[in-house]
Amino acid sequence: MFILKAKTQLEKAIEKAKKIRPTVKFDCFGRYRVSGSKGGYYTVICRRDNRGIKAVECTCKAGDEGLVCYHAAAALSLHVGLARQRQTA
Ligand SMILES: [Zn+2]
Repeated sequence: MFILKAKTQLEKAIEKAKKIRPTVKFDCFGRYRVSGSKGGYYTVICRRDNRGIKAVECTCKAGDEGLVCYHAAAALSLHVGLARQRQTA
């Protein structure tokens, strides 16, 4: 799990996600499944606590170690879009 503080944290992971173009499946708001490079899917959880701190969790090895992986970046791009829709709805 990592705490999302700035978009710059995601730059490298976003670059990688653009190259790899993983499939992102929507489970529910804040919960996504992203295809891994070796097949299978990783679960990415995006949440925000009541102090406004955004935490992202991915079940892959890098995510386990607190690194920003491309699965998280891919899921976040969908999540951010959905969150924006919710606010304007
Ligand atoms: Zn991951």
